[in-house]
Amino acid sequence: MTVRCPLTDCDTENAADAEKCVRCATPLRHLARLSAYPDQLFNRGLAAATAGDLGTARDLFAAVVHWCPQDVVARNALALASFQLEDHAAACVHWEAVLDGSPGDPLATDGLALLADCELDE
Ligand SMILES: [Zn+2]
Repeated sequence: MTVRCPLTDCDTENAADAEKCVRCATPLRHLARLSAYPDQLFNRGLAAATAGDLGTARDLFAAVVHWCPQDVVARNALALASFQLEDHAAACVHWEAVLDGSPGDPLATDGLALLADCELDE
């Protein structure tokens, strides 16, 4: 997976996670957000979660969040996968991040309520 520099007189192949073109320093991250790549990762994450492979699902959702930090759906999925893996600290961080960007988000609100319940049980 590579990202091609958008400048036609540069046209250099860069690593998929490159911040800038290695040759001309054109910012590349916004290109990644516009590509279908995060959607593919998210769909693979959903497939892994459905198959019960939560560790893989979490890694894939984390990758989507890395590419698209404002993606509420992906971050909720990442939080839920973390919760199901009993990584409550990570679940808490991600659900709070959802609420920071999207106050009142029902999934994140319910998720944090679940965490509060868990802490009472422990
Ligand atoms: Zn370039």
